[in-house]
Amino acid sequence: MNDFKQCIASPARTILRYRERTGKGVVGVMPVYCPEEIIHAAGFLPLGIWGSPNISITKTRAAWPSFVCSVAQSITELEALGAYRDLDAVVFSVPCDTLKCLSQKWDSSGVPAIVFTHPQNRRDSEQAACAFAREEYRIVKEKLEALLRVSISTDALKASIRIYNENRAACRAFSDACAQYAGLIKPSWRHTVFRARWFMEKSAHTALVNELMEAVRAEPLPDFQGRKILVSGIMTEPEEVLHILEENGFAIAADDLAQESRQIREDVPDDADPLLALARQWIRFDGCPLAFNERKPRARMLIDTAKKYGADAVIVCMPKHCDPEAFDYPILLREFRAEGMKSLCVETDPGTTSFEQIGTRIQTFAELL
Ligand code: SF4
Repeated sequence: MNDFKQCIASPARTILRYRERTGKGVVGVMPVYCPEEIIHAAGFLPLGIWGSPNISITKTRAAWPSFVCSVAQSITELEALGAYRDLDAVVFSVPCDTLKCLSQKWDSSGVPAIVFTHPQNRRDSEQAACAFAREEYRIVKEKLEALLRVSISTDALKASIRIYNENRAACRAFSDACAQYAGLIKPSWRHTVFRARWFMEKSAHTALVNELMEAVRAEPLPDFQGRKILVSGIMTEPEEVLHILEENGFAIAADDLAQESRQIREDVPDDADPLLALARQWIRFDGCPLAFNERKPRARMLIDTAKKYGADAVIVCMPKHCDPEAFDYPILLREFRAEGMKSLCVETDPGTTSFEQIGTRIQTFAELL
C-alpha cells in the first residue's frame, strides 16, 4: 500500500521520476473519459487531473460563479496556483457543460489544450457514432504527434491498448477482492489503489495491484460484521468521507464511480484498427449520465451489481453542483424504492473542511440499516 500512497502524496515526484527514467514528459487528462492509450502510445505519461481533495478554494471565486461544480473549482484553484505548468499538454473531453466551459477557460501558462467530443447519440446510429468517435480520436492523435514531436504507430497503439486492458482486468479483480475481503481492505485503501491509477504508468500500476492481490489472498477470509455498500457517482473524495464510512462499519463491495470502476468496466475490443477499437469501447460504455442513453439503464445496473456483490445499500456520492449526476438521481431513487433497495445520497465537496453533516447522515443511515 505504501507505494500507492507515496504516488498519491506526491504526483510531482512521480512526474519527475518518469521524466528521468524515460526522457519523456507528461500529458494531463481532464475528467472524465479519455482515450489515454493514445498518450501512452506516444511514450508520455497520462496524468489524471481531478483537483485536490485538500485544497481551500479562494482564487477560483473570481473565475467561476458559485454554482459551478466542486471538481471544476478545485481544478481551477490548482491551475491558478501553477500546479499544471510542467505538463506538455492537456486533453479535455467535454461531456458536461462545466467541462466545456473549463476547456474554454483553460490558461495554464502556455500548456496547450486538446479538446475533443464524444458522440452522445450512440444507439440509433451506432455506425455513424463510431465513425465520429474514431475521427475525433484521430484528431487527438494527430495533435498530440504535432505537439509532442512524436509519431504514434499502429503497433504502439495496439500495445498500449493491451496494457490498459490488462490493467482494467487487474483492477476489476482487485475490486472483487474488496467485496470478498470486506473488513480487511478498508474503503480508504481501496480508493488509494484506484486513485494511484491516475498517476502511474499503467503496467507499473498493474504490477503493484497484482502484488497486493497476492498478499491479500494469503490472508484468511475475515469475519466481517459490518455492512457492505455499493458507491456510485463521480468520486468519493474528500477522503474524510471514506473514513466516516469506515468508522460506521461500512465496506465498499463495488463501485460505480467515474473516477474508479467506470474507467475499467469496459475493455477496448479487438480490432485491426486501434482507433476504431477505442471508438467501439465508447459506444459500448453505459450506466453513466455522461454517456447518454435514453433508456436509462444505470439504476438497473446498480441494483444488479449490488445484489451480485452482496451490498446492503447504495450510497450515491454527488459532487456539489454536478448537474449530470443530479439529473440522474430522481430516476435512481424511484427505481431503488420500487426494488426495495436502501440508498443514501451525500453531497461531496473537495473544498469543505466540515464533515459533521455527512457524518451524521452516514451514522443515521448505518443505524437504519
Ligand atoms: S463533477 Fe459533474 S459537473 Fe463537474 S465536471 Fe464532473 S461531471 Fe461535470
